[in-house]
Amino acid sequence: MNNNPVLIVGGGIAGMEAAKQLKALGLKPVIVEKSSALGGHVAQWHKLFPDMTSASKILAAYEEPLKDVEVLLETEISSINRLQKGYSVILSNGRAMPCKAVVFATGFKLFEAEKKEEYGYGIYDRVITNRDLEAWFNTHSDERVPEKPSAIGFVHCVGSRDIKAGNTQCSKVCCITAIKQAIELKEEFPDAEIYCFYMDLRLFGKKYEDFYINAQRDYGIHFIRGRVSEVSETIDGRVLVKAEDTLVGKPVKVKLDLLVLMAGIVCNKENQTLAYSLQMPVDDDGFFRSKDNILSITEADRNGIFYVGTCTGPKTVPETVAEARSAALNVYNYLKNQK
Ligand SMILES: Cc1cc2nc3c(=O)[nH]c(=O)nc-3n(C[C@H](O)[C@H](O)[C@H](O)COP(=O)(O)OP(=O)(O)OC[C@H]3O[C@@H](n4cnc5c(N)ncnc54)[C@H](O)[C@@H]3O)c2cc1C
Ligand code: SF4
Repeated sequence: MNNNPVLIVGGGIAGMEAAKQLKALGLKPVIVEKSSALGGHVAQWHKLFPDMTSASKILAAYEEPLKDVEVLLETEISSINRLQKGYSVILSNGRAMPCKAVVFATGFKLFEAEKKEEYGYGIYDRVITNRDLEAWFNTHSDERVPEKPSAIGFVHCVGSRDIKAGNTQCSKVCCITAIKQAIELKEEFPDAEIYCFYMDLRLFGKKYEDFYINAQRDYGIHFIRGRVSEVSETIDGRVLVKAEDTLVGKPVKVKLDLLVLMAGIVCNKENQTLAYSLQMPVDDDGFFRSKDNILSITEADRNGIFYVGTCTGPKTVPETVAEARSAALNVYNYLKNQK
C-alpha cells in the first residue's frame, strides 16, 4: 500500500498537514506546489488569530515532520487522467506519476480589491488591503502606510456577500482579521483613532467575542454599522470615507490617513480546470464540490480524490489543519481497501 505515492496538489498548510499525517500513517506523500516555497497564504501573514501566534513559527513546526517528504516546488499538474485503478498524472516538469490517490489542497485566492473601484484601491495612495497590511506588519516597509497616522479605517466585506462582485458568500475570516489587525495597529500607533465599517459582525469562533470586547474596551476601536458609500482623496492626500451609520440612522464622514480593505476569500479558478479534467463538479462559487457537506467534506465524488482546506470554501487555519488530519485518515482507509 505504501509504495504508490499519494499526490498532494498544493503546499499550503492544508497540503503540509496532510503530508505530515500521511507520512505518519506509513504512506508516501509527494507535494506538488506551484510557487517557490511551501506555506501558501499563511506564509504571508504576521500573527494568527485567535492567540496572536506567529505565522512563521507555525510553519517552522512542519520542517522536521516534512524532512523526508518529497516536495516539488514550481511544479504543477499538466494532465490528470483516470485509470482503471488510480490516476495517471503528468507534471509540468515532464515526470509521469501514477498514483492511487490524489489530495487537492489548492487553497483560495484573495478577492482583487481593485475590482471594487469605488473604494479606490490602486487609485488612492492611502488605500491598502488586509494582505498589504500583513506584509507591512512583517516588514514595516510600505510607502502607503504613513509614519504617524491619526485616523485609520477598515472596510469589511470587500468582495464578499456582494452580488456585483460575483461572490455572495461570507468569507468567514475577515471580521476577526479586521479586529486583529485593528488591535495590532493600535499597539503600533496608540494615538490613532481606528474605525471598522461593517454590515454585520460574524465572530463565531473560540475567543473571537473576547477579541471584539477587548477591541472596544481596552483599545477604544470604534465600530460603525453601515456600508461605505463613497471613498475619495482629499487635497492633502488623505482619504475621505462616507457611510451611513445604520444604528443611529445618520450619515458619517471620516477623514483617514489609511484605509484598509478587508478583501474576501474567493475560489482558486484553477480548480475548474482540474475538476474539468476529471469530470468532477465545482460549486456555483467555483470551490470544489465535496461529496457532501456533512460527513464527506474531504471526499470528491470520484474514488481516490480527496479535498483539504480552503479549496472547498473559506476556513480558518485550525479548521484547515483538522480537516487535513481527517482527510489523511480517509486516504489511508481508502488505500487499505484497495487491492
Ligand atoms: C487576510 C487573511 C488573514 C488570515 N488570518 C488568519 C489567522 O490569523 N488565523 C487563521 O486561523 N486563519 C487566517 N486566515 C485563513 C488562512 O489563510 C487559511 O485558513 C489558510 O491559508 C488555508 O490554507 P490552504 O492550504 O487551504 O490554502 P492556501 O494557503 O491558499 O494554500 C494553497 C497552496 O496551493 C498552491 N496551489 C494552488 N493551485 C495549485 C496548483 N494548481 N498546483 C500546485 N499548487 C497549487 C498555492 O500556491 C498555495 O501554496 C486568514 C485569511 C485571510 C484572507
Ligand atoms: S467575515 Fe465579516 S467581513 Fe468577512 S465577509 Fe463575513 S461578514 Fe463580511
